[in-house]
Order: sequence, then C-alpha cells, then structure tokens
Amino acid sequence: MRKIRKNDEVVIILGRDRGKKGKVLLSIPEDDRLIVKGINMIKRHTKPGRTMRQAGIIEREAPLHVSDVKLICKKCNQPTRVGFRLLEDRSKVRLCKKCHEVID
Ligand SMILES: [Zn+2]
Repeated sequence: MRKIRKNDEVVIILGRDRGKKGKVLLSIPEDDRLIVKGINMIKRHTKPGRTMRQAGIIEREAPLHVSDVKLICKKCNQPTRVGFRLLEDRSKVRLCKKCHEVID
C-alpha cells in the first residue's frame, strides 16, 4: 500500500522547491516517484508538429522522489509521516502520525 497517492496534498521538504505545497497529479510506484502540480518545473523546447502548432518552450513537472515530500494531513493540516492501521475487515487505512486520525 502506498503512503502517498494521487490527489494528496504534499509539502516539498528537499530540493529547490522546498517549502512549497502542491497536489499529487500522478504517482509512479515502480520508481517511488510522484508528479506534483507546479513543483520541480522543467523547461522543454518544442518543435512545431502534429500536437503543437508553435515552436517554443513549455514548462512541465518533472517527477520527484517520494522521500522529497511529506503528506499534509487533511485533519490536522500539518505535514506528517504516514502510518497504517489494519481494520477489522482486514483492509488497511492510512493514519496520520501527528493527530492519529485515519486519513482515508
Ligand atoms: Zn493529522
């Protein structure tokens, strides 16, 4: 089970975007990486082609490593580590280690 998933709110704790917050757009579990909206932007030069009418520079998000971010708990609104709890029906839920509330 993944600690951070799509649509989670995270804060960046390492790198040049440290301290910024954003929403997870994509999780890449096989690489332990995430794409966070507006974070770790890289510039790409584009040529005119089928999808782009104009040549130019576009900015897009580059993946971040999961250890570069911390989840922001929706309950206590603080950056936190994620724990897990096994429910009676044997399903697992995520737990905020700060306020000990179930995250989902
Ligand atoms: Zn919390």
